[in-house]
Amino acid sequence: MRIEEDIKLDYSDVLFRPKRSTLHSRKDVELKRTYKFKHSNNEWSGIPIMAANMDGVGELEVAKSLAKFELMTCLTKQHDINIIKHCSYIKSIYPYLAFSTGTKSEDFKKLNEIIKEFSFFQFICIDIANGYSDHFSKFVQSVREKYPTKTIIAGNVVTADMTQELILSGADIVKVGIGPGSVCTTRIQTGVGYPQLSAVIECADAAHGLGAHIIADGGCTCPGDIAKAFGGGADFVMLGGMFAGHDEGKGKVIKKNGIKFIEFYGSSSDTANEKHYGGLVDYRSSEGKNVKLKYRGKIKDTILNILGGLRSSCTYVGAPSLKQLSKCTTFVRVNQQHNDTFV
Ligand code: 5GP
Repeated sequence: MRIEEDIKLDYSDVLFRPKRSTLHSRKDVELKRTYKFKHSNNEWSGIPIMAANMDGVGELEVAKSLAKFELMTCLTKQHDINIIKHCSYIKSIYPYLAFSTGTKSEDFKKLNEIIKEFSFFQFICIDIANGYSDHFSKFVQSVREKYPTKTIIAGNVVTADMTQELILSGADIVKVGIGPGSVCTTRIQTGVGYPQLSAVIECADAAHGLGAHIIADGGCTCPGDIAKAFGGGADFVMLGGMFAGHDEGKGKVIKKNGIKFIEFYGSSSDTANEKHYGGLVDYRSSEGKNVKLKYRGKIKDTILNILGGLRSSCTYVGAPSLKQLSKCTTFVRVNQQHNDTFV
């Protein structure tokens, strides 16, 4: 047994240190980024925030709203050929869409069918809860061999060694995060995880050294956390809970004492397993929860609030663009992130 003694950080453990700035207004901050991906050689431009491939979030209506702001959406694994065929606006939003897949042979078959039919899909998101298995790297390798010009997202992992392994197996973008999610219970069920800001800093460093990119996935609770992820070196930030509870997610609406709530649940929760796989198999336990979120209306207001916060973070640290945010970042470690008297 070994214990690592150096301190690892979550978003709530730090704040940005403000710095002198020549920026006149938040309006002057450029949030758009352009990336060229290591293996696919594709170029992408947009604001690098993504909706997670979770029910109620990774949905086509959400993608339509996010694409207007040049934000991306990872569609849930349940989006098959028929659903995509029925979407009239799919061609207008595809640069901001990723198609998600698991690693079973039937998943690969479905992926092949989708790409054959909709060859314009640029992003493939190969997503499993534990990206540390040998089988996973091999699967990434086989997708890379079959699709040399598609941009492959692979995850989730939280350490530099596995980030490098996935990139060397063919991933362009590694998805980082084990256990930080708003409806995730992995840390309680298994005791496994890694503080998210440190995971982002360490994996970004490893990926950038190889000319690849990372997504900080999970654990953002407010716009400030998204800014901290970018400050720590994330190229993209993926959001589940922060994008949940809106009209566009089409979640189940529950009314209680006249107040509207929307159901939101983890992809490994009992609810998701029952809905998509006919229940949990005996040897597995649920690693996600089901919560009721206060209904939040149109997603556009949430997007504007996030982008406004992000622009403000950049002005506080003197970064004229999101690209420069991490260079302008000094984090101070804190014991208290905010005053919660009225929370
Ligand atoms: P959030 O933004 O809600 O904090 O985190 C979203 C991320 O949580 C997702 O992108 C995914 O990586 C993770 N996640 C979603 N559902 C589950 C689940 O049921 N269990 C676990 N362990 N993680 C989940």
